[in-house]
Amino acid sequence: MSREQTGWVIRNVRVIDPFRDVDSIEDIYVKGEEIGEPSLSTDYSVVDGRDLWLVPRLTDMHVHFREPGFENKEDLLSGSRAAAAGGFTAVCTMPNTFPTIDIPSLVQWQRDQAKNIGLVRIFPIGAISKGQEGRELADLYQMACAGAVGFSDDGHPLRDARIMRAALGYSTTLGRPIIQHAEDPALSEGGVMHEGSVSQQLGLPGIPEEAESVMVWRDVELAGLTGGLLHVAHVSAQGSLEALDYAKRRGLRVTAEVSPHHLFLTDAMIREWNFKPVTKVNPPLRPDGTRQLLIQAVRRGLIPVIASDHAPHHQDEKDRPYNEAPFGISGLETFIGTILGVFIVDGLLDPLSLFRLVTVEPHKVLGLEYPGLTVGAPADFTLIDPQAKWVVDGKKFYSRGKNTPLEGTWLQGRPVATMVGGQWTMRDQEVLR
Ligand SMILES: [Zn+2]
Repeated sequence: MSREQTGWVIRNVRVIDPFRDVDSIEDIYVKGEEIGEPSLSTDYSVVDGRDLWLVPRLTDMHVHFREPGFENKEDLLSGSRAAAAGGFTAVCTMPNTFPTIDIPSLVQWQRDQAKNIGLVRIFPIGAISKGQEGRELADLYQMACAGAVGFSDDGHPLRDARIMRAALGYSTTLGRPIIQHAEDPALSEGGVMHEGSVSQQLGLPGIPEEAESVMVWRDVELAGLTGGLLHVAHVSAQGSLEALDYAKRRGLRVTAEVSPHHLFLTDAMIREWNFKPVTKVNPPLRPDGTRQLLIQAVRRGLIPVIASDHAPHHQDEKDRPYNEAPFGISGLETFIGTILGVFIVDGLLDPLSLFRLVTVEPHKVLGLEYPGLTVGAPADFTLIDPQAKWVVDGKKFYSRGKNTPLEGTWLQGRPVATMVGGQWTMRDQEVLR
């Protein structure tokens, strides 16, 4: 863009803005870093938005960018590029790095790095316990002051109910949620996939759904005891949904997220992939019956958030046998195609309702503010071509993690441009850094 130009105008675009509850054809003006007033000036560079959707502040509240410590899997730059390519303008990074993000200076460091990279807004999540060891509470207050938007020992569950109780107690004063990776390790130990008929046929050790749901039930009770803000990460079990229903009936401050792969795929994929660990993820892919219940739970608002749980690994690690490969799927760059496939193509949700789950709802869970596309708001938005049909090719991912069970799958719907603070970060599938 040359210096004389005033900004950008996206013309005749279908604006889907869940922050303002708007779904209509509009022209969106960008001036400097912000949404500008409509203008008759000819100094704006024009983008033809016909047949495209424009969604503000797409937010993935669960990603693993692995820096510091595991940069061979992903770092803040490669993760940010994957986020921009996937259409995201904001992400929340999980603290299971080395060292663990459990002190305010590390929270600040991640935010500074993200600002320098400038591709996506990063809202760090701090650890609940020091070193994520589950023994001693980290300084949640100081981390919140440094900008941590929530707390999690994700990667591991927080097992000690006494520490969980204390953390939930703090969450009420801080206004930041405690995000639990719900898993009872005694029940899941040694398991590599969902425990059921497929694991029996394949002879692989299983993880029962109850390994998750017993922990969700416990935490819901602790949320009741403390009045705390509990957010359940990557829900994947029928019993967890019942615990969430119970929490809702009691009026507790409990929210949850589900990952696109649990909505789109089942444990039968493990057979289809012939034991290739592309499907290995924790919690594991579930049978179709559970998948259907998760979709229904999203439709009726019981699960308010969809988050990728983007968990990249180095290819060498994922090339190991199924029992030995690490858990995790590279999810940022297939996110939109997947959720459009599940909910829009089949007509299960309208776009405005669907995009609430990746915009206004994660903002509510985390206590973040964004006014929607109003004059003066940061110009953070994504242009999506809902008709684009494309084949997933992990080699082309910007993420260092090329591991996806969707390899070779046709998806419909794709982000075609991403803007953060008035700067394009991606255009025509090309990340601009
Ligand atoms: Zn997790």
